[in-house]
Amino acid sequence: MNNSKINKLQFITSLLLCSVLLGCENEVSKKETVETNETKSVSQFDTSDYRFPREEGTTKGGYPVTLSGKPITKTPLIINSEGTKVKDYPEYYAPGDETLAGNEMRITIMGSGTPAPIRAAQATSCVLVQLGNGNNFIFDIGSGTVGSLFSMGVHPSELDKVFITHLHLDHVGGIFPLFDAMGWARNTPLKVWGPSSHTPELGTAAFIDNIYGATEWHRQSKQDVVPIQGASFDTKEINVSLFNEDNAQQLVYDNDGVRIFAFPVIHSIEGAIGFRLEWKGLSMVYVSDSEVSTFEAEQSKGVDVLIHEVVPSAEEFAIGNNMPIEVAKRVIGHHTTAKKLGYFLDLTKPRLGVGTHFQLGDQTNDNLFLDLRKAYDGPFLLAQDLSTINITPDYILMRQTKLNLLADPPPPKSLEGLELTTKEHSEAVIPEWLTNTMIRLEE
Ligand SMILES: [Zn+2]
Ligand SMILES: [Zn+2]
Repeated sequence: MNNSKINKLQFITSLLLCSVLLGCENEVSKKETVETNETKSVSQFDTSDYRFPREEGTTKGGYPVTLSGKPITKTPLIINSEGTKVKDYPEYYAPGDETLAGNEMRITIMGSGTPAPIRAAQATSCVLVQLGNGNNFIFDIGSGTVGSLFSMGVHPSELDKVFITHLHLDHVGGIFPLFDAMGWARNTPLKVWGPSSHTPELGTAAFIDNIYGATEWHRQSKQDVVPIQGASFDTKEINVSLFNEDNAQQLVYDNDGVRIFAFPVIHSIEGAIGFRLEWKGLSMVYVSDSEVSTFEAEQSKGVDVLIHEVVPSAEEFAIGNNMPIEVAKRVIGHHTTAKKLGYFLDLTKPRLGVGTHFQLGDQTNDNLFLDLRKAYDGPFLLAQDLSTINITPDYILMRQTKLNLLADPPPPKSLEGLELTTKEHSEAVIPEWLTNTMIRLEE
């Protein structure tokens, strides 16, 4: 078989595989398979459509169906008053094509899912906050989110500030690939803020130290090719023992007009926190896993966008995970159901409430809205992966992001002052008897 035949076969196979794996309707694939005589290079495909594999439509409850490219809300645009001028935004947010205004915040839910069950359509918890002053902040770094983060048109060196709510793996599982953005990608230390706990080994500093230790082989093998700055962590553990009734929050970040506060929340064991970001009169609260409390509501009052976890009822959770109902009730007991979130949003009254960490599905979504609406009638977005929210003092706009799945990160802004290589080399050299067997060819 000659090369072009092999390539054509690979092309057809990959199209068929795509249809099976991603559930894309075969319309395009079939046509391409039949009509294509020439081999196509992969860059000629419009891969962005694979993010929205479902037809547009609405659920029985009247909400856009999941994965159709529409935000799951009935109020995709919230305008403060009649006559407010809204910037002309394209239907989808395309990273790299839009600049933020000086007083504009953009929030993208990079991972909207939950660990139970992990599914292809939803990465686990991660939120990217971008400000008009060029600052970028990551809240939680769940698994499956780093590829999308690196496709957002931001150089990895500027994706270097991570705020962790707690150390459940669905909130930190992506830390390895994010740390691996060394080499010619991230060239600054990865800065991590996260909670302490009851003992040092339960805290964020110990967690990061263990990651550093676990990557010894990886780092030694790259000693002569990467900037050493990028292969290090800068951990700032937030001391949760300092919180009490009279000390409800700690200022953990204060730079360039951006202030981020941490406050304790109730989830599983000691060492779970929420964050509140304030900048130029705009604000965002991110509370992931927690049981809602009046204390948490107090910290969230008057916020522009309140992002909060929401989970299905114990009955739905038991069915979705093939789990005995008693166990499902114990799990859900550490979280916030839609009914509780509705009550909580009614207490806090944000300009926009956002639910995430939810097992999306047309029926589960409708059930969520039914329960939520028993107590809350304000604007609400049920997040999918890559739901993007633009916030200004005058309006809030919700869209889905159309990601170029083959996007490369932009070049770093400055390599000045970087120590690109180390003098040290690993002592773990490959033995000579093995390197002697190398097949050497002229390039
Ligand atoms: Zn958790
Ligand atoms: Zn979680």
